[in-house]
Amino acid sequence: MTRYVGRFAPSPSGPLHFGSLVAALGSYFQAKANHGVWLVRIEDLDPPREMQGASEAILQALEAYHLHWDGEIVYQSQRHHLYQAQIDAWLKNGDAYYCQCTRKQIKEHGGYYPGTCRNKNLQEGAIRLKMTKPVSHFIDQRHGQMSIPEALINEDFIIKRRDGLFAYNLAVVLDDIDQGVTEVVRGADLIEPTGRQISLYQILEQPEVSYLHLPLAMDTNGNKLSKQNHAMAIDVNEPKPTLLRAMTFLGFHIPKELNATNIDEILRWGCENWQVKQLPVEIEITP
Ligand code: GLU
Repeated sequence: MTRYVGRFAPSPSGPLHFGSLVAALGSYFQAKANHGVWLVRIEDLDPPREMQGASEAILQALEAYHLHWDGEIVYQSQRHHLYQAQIDAWLKNGDAYYCQCTRKQIKEHGGYYPGTCRNKNLQEGAIRLKMTKPVSHFIDQRHGQMSIPEALINEDFIIKRRDGLFAYNLAVVLDDIDQGVTEVVRGADLIEPTGRQISLYQILEQPEVSYLHLPLAMDTNGNKLSKQNHAMAIDVNEPKPTLLRAMTFLGFHIPKELNATNIDEILRWGCENWQVKQLPVEIEITP
């Protein structure tokens, strides 16, 4: 039997906030409950959106919450050669191509890219992958069958941007394959790109992984807690109350006795009692 390999893959666009703690904890409990390993990968793929010191702050916060990862931390910024090698192979065999369409032109097509540059043989611009394995739905461990929005299914999506940055979908799949990840546990905001990611596994002829999307924490105005919305960093000095709150959000019914114990005991109890079916089915909830 293949060993369970899970991961937490934060982007260092800000410190760890309540929403990202929920993703970290959900992936941690699911990995530990399956007697697997839990990896941490820093997705520093987009420097303009990063905050200086955020990677260190995220790792320190994970340590403060005693969420100890297995193996070495992987940084996407150190893996450009891997992404480029795959793109070069696709360009060479004609599976990928350059595209010079502007955002405005795509908007004029109703926001959908119809493959305009497929046969133009351009030598620069953004790089798109020919969509030869469209995926219209997938099974989520908690939510069952999820449908991919129609417009996304057949699109030749961007794998390297015109400004030279590698696309998230490409990096995340190449890294998950390379690190032997068997299940992706992350926030429900990433349900939408999952179809494209599954297409990539199929194009690369790799065994697919399973997916579990966790409920998203919303603020009282109904916005997703995110670094872009300047969600507050979690308290690293006194982690217990926030840890218990995040676990409650993940559907645990915390017994009173647990309030009197320490972080390690709480996490151990969480690993022993975690069940996917405890997760609320709503995708977005206010903590
Ligand atoms: N880096 C992504 C984020 O922070 C998560 C990627 C993933 O879990 O697939 O939103």
